[in-house]
Amino acid sequence: MRYPVNEIFETLQGEGVYTGVPAVFLRLQGCPVGCSWCDTRHTWQCLEQDRVPMQQIIGISGDKAQWCELSVEELVAHLTDGRFHARHLVITGGEPCLYDLAPLTEAMEQQGWQCQIETSGCFEVKTSDSCWVTVSPKEGMKGGYELCASALKRANEIKYPVATEQHIANLKALLAALPPEHSPVVALQPISQKPRATALCIEQCIKNNWRLSAQMHKYLAID
Ligand code: SF4
Repeated sequence: MRYPVNEIFETLQGEGVYTGVPAVFLRLQGCPVGCSWCDTRHTWQCLEQDRVPMQQIIGISGDKAQWCELSVEELVAHLTDGRFHARHLVITGGEPCLYDLAPLTEAMEQQGWQCQIETSGCFEVKTSDSCWVTVSPKEGMKGGYELCASALKRANEIKYPVATEQHIANLKALLAALPPEHSPVVALQPISQKPRATALCIEQCIKNNWRLSAQMHKYLAID
């Protein structure tokens, strides 16, 4: 299995349940979902003209559309060669579930790492059984994708982007449709740190015993 890698960098997880945890982020290139507020638009297309050698990806973080193709073996070798301190791997995008992530997450877990993926929920999730799956549901976006029922069922955490009351109503409908035995952690994430969205999220988190995902990295101005 080979993956189109946009960047690999070490930082603190800024979102969801693992906020504050040191993590290595592996960003994969490619996403057809088309969210209007997307802050990683440079990952949308996987064009041949943007393919670069691995040396141009390693240690370089930034909003560039470039990518290199790496195998599971190459990624495991790089991630475990001693340069990183974290043992928590976050596979994000783009949309990482365009790819079969089971070989990579299983291989990293064999090395003693914990894996997490962040997905829009529009595609089937293929990971190791113990990988933490964060679904940030993206409905009604320009790409025209529906939420994938199996992805929602696999979610350990639902991190819901919120700007308006309608988003809260949509989230409640989504939760009501989940099987009763499935109760993922719910975190509200204010869209674009807008003050009104943040105030609404705080109010609703307290009312419903949900968590707030404030995107800590944006307040701290770190990657
Ligand atoms: S799913 Fe994520 S990467 Fe894709 S458009 Fe939406 S926010 Fe951007």
